[in-house]
Amino acid sequence: MQRPLVLFDLDNTLVDRRGALVDWAAEFTDRHGLENEERAYVLDMVDERAYPSTFDVIRSRYRLPMSADELWRAYCTDIAAMVSCPTAVLDGLDELRAASWRVGVATNGAADIQRAKLWATGISERVDGVFVSEEADARKPQTRHFALAAARCGTVLGDGGWMVGDNPVNDIGGGRSAGLRTIWIGNGRSWPPDDSRPDHVVPHARAAIDLLLLHSVDHTRTAA
Ligand SMILES: [Mg+2]
Repeated sequence: MQRPLVLFDLDNTLVDRRGALVDWAAEFTDRHGLENEERAYVLDMVDERAYPSTFDVIRSRYRLPMSADELWRAYCTDIAAMVSCPTAVLDGLDELRAASWRVGVATNGAADIQRAKLWATGISERVDGVFVSEEADARKPQTRHFALAAARCGTVLGDGGWMVGDNPVNDIGGGRSAGLRTIWIGNGRSWPPDDSRPDHVVPHARAAIDLLLLHSVDHTRTAA
């Protein structure tokens, strides 16, 4: 029997990136003696996308003495230490693989920070493969991103599978275009009315895992 594939987004799906960034921005502004109102600016800068070049801008704005590269490396270390993956979700990844799922991570971002988070949280050792967009310049929602993630898990998109994520365009629209079934993590939001709906909407990653585990029961029954 083919092992079914499920790909998970990382930020705000498996880990609470937003919460970690809020804490980090507070610490960063304190550490560098910046005014309180600069917190929101620093947070905005790293919130959308954080790359080494982001720290060129921050460094020039505040005339910081260290190099952008030093700031970037400190950021990677700090964020990796601050994010966590709930135990119930880590256990869920183990349960999926025990139920013969092929489990992968498909994430946009810079490879060093994304890989650092995956190691620090213990996700790395619980998945079959990881693809970070920077590693082959293929960002979600491009189909190529999902194809490369499937390949890292030792399979191909043609065999179907699932995408789980919090971003309506990158994860759900992109996943659907790549031929995957989709589960949207709401994180307290409602599905945007203009986008075509995912197959399922759930409040958090553990609920998505429970849903997939039910599907694997169906899958086994069909196969038997
Ligand atoms: Mg996300």
